[in-house]
Amino acid sequence: MAAGIGGKENKIMIREVDMYQCVCDKSHVDDFNGYVAWSDETMAAEAAYESGWTNIEGKDYCPDCYVYDEELDEYTPKKKL
Ligand SMILES: [Zn+2]
Repeated sequence: MAAGIGGKENKIMIREVDMYQCVCDKSHVDDFNGYVAWSDETMAAEAAYESGWTNIEGKDYCPDCYVYDEELDEYTPKKKL
């Protein structure tokens, strides 16, 4: 994956950078607001949470994949249909 496209003779100023993205643990959705990745991990997380994503027990969920459970008084991932 990291192999240089075009080999070492390629002088075009493109380089590989590390990007961060949130991927829904359930639906594997990885885009919102038209973005799929950020250069900063914190920005990626903030953008996700501003878009209604949440983190439950260390896993990220998009707004379609979690519900508020009134009995537990907390957000839980949706059950599989
Ligand atoms: Zn999802």
